[in-house]
Amino acid sequence: MQENFKFYGTELQGQQELTPRWKRCTLATDGALGEAVGQDWVKKYFSPEKKENMDKLVTALEAALHQDIEQLPWMSDDTKKKALEKLALIRNKIGYPEHWRDYSTLVVKRDDLLGNMARATVFEDRRNLDKLGKPVDETEWVMTPPTVNAYYMQGFNDINFPAGILQPPFYDFSKDPAVNFGGIGVVIGHEMTHGFDDQGSKYDGHGNVVEWQTPADRKAFTERTDCEVKEYGSFETVPGVKLNGQLTLGENTADNGGLRLAYLALMNTLGKEAAPPEIDGYTPSQRFFLAFGQVWCENVREQSARNSALVDPHSPGRWRTNGAVQNFDEFGKAFNCKKGAPMYPENSCRVW
Ligand SMILES: [Zn+2]
Repeated sequence: MQENFKFYGTELQGQQELTPRWKRCTLATDGALGEAVGQDWVKKYFSPEKKENMDKLVTALEAALHQDIEQLPWMSDDTKKKALEKLALIRNKIGYPEHWRDYSTLVVKRDDLLGNMARATVFEDRRNLDKLGKPVDETEWVMTPPTVNAYYMQGFNDINFPAGILQPPFYDFSKDPAVNFGGIGVVIGHEMTHGFDDQGSKYDGHGNVVEWQTPADRKAFTERTDCEVKEYGSFETVPGVKLNGQLTLGENTADNGGLRLAYLALMNTLGKEAAPPEIDGYTPSQRFFLAFGQVWCENVREQSARNSALVDPHSPGRWRTNGAVQNFDEFGKAFNCKKGAPMYPENSCRVW
């Protein structure tokens, strides 16, 4: 345990102390019995009302992506039709699975941690082997309900939001729409955009690897993604270490698309639903960008940042925020920046 921590924790991540035992135990239990403990967690923290409100946000983001595709200047009408077909087929999975995993054959003993972990591993292997020769279960989740994360799966063409991320600071229905669109709204837009990034765009709406863009559209798409590769490849994470624009391309495309789509969805919503014109002196647009920036507040050690730059397909929080806003003129306008300022540049990149 100590040697493992010395290498993976301290050497690679700069971690000074081993994570407290209760956190490691909670994580292990979530990994082994996620959909059992997740049921109680959801009862406590994710009400049907919250789920209903989240459905509305997802619908607003779908409408925004529909609008965005229709208005794209670089895509032909034929390809737009295909993109809209794919969008209509995206399956939305919110909070927790439709049916829960059955753990009744897994033996758990109070005084046998090692045995519990071994039996849980065998249980999971069997569960996966049992899928052989059977139809794919498209209702399956690969994250547990309390997880603070979200994902898109190309082969399933689904977006998944565990109840864990449907909490503050991402999502809080006591707050005004600007804050929720800037938080979870951007995450929803991010996952949807994954269906249309450099990887996702190789799959059709049924999850099959099919080229649905015309050669000319694919070329125009790649010119736009190349712009992001260059842009993000110029960002420095720690002195002397730049991001890998190719490695982070899909995530950066999703970040940029997500921000743009959530903003569009907010503007559409403000047309129908009233939001306070100002709160603490901030307009709805400003509150949207503040909420977005707050999601990515983080503090990392240098070793961790160096390691992430080599292996993590996500850009660090600072560039997830600054990269996306400098590509989106509405940010500069919201804060009355002068055209040409660092966050409101003359030239920027845009894919979706
Ligand atoms: Zn992503």
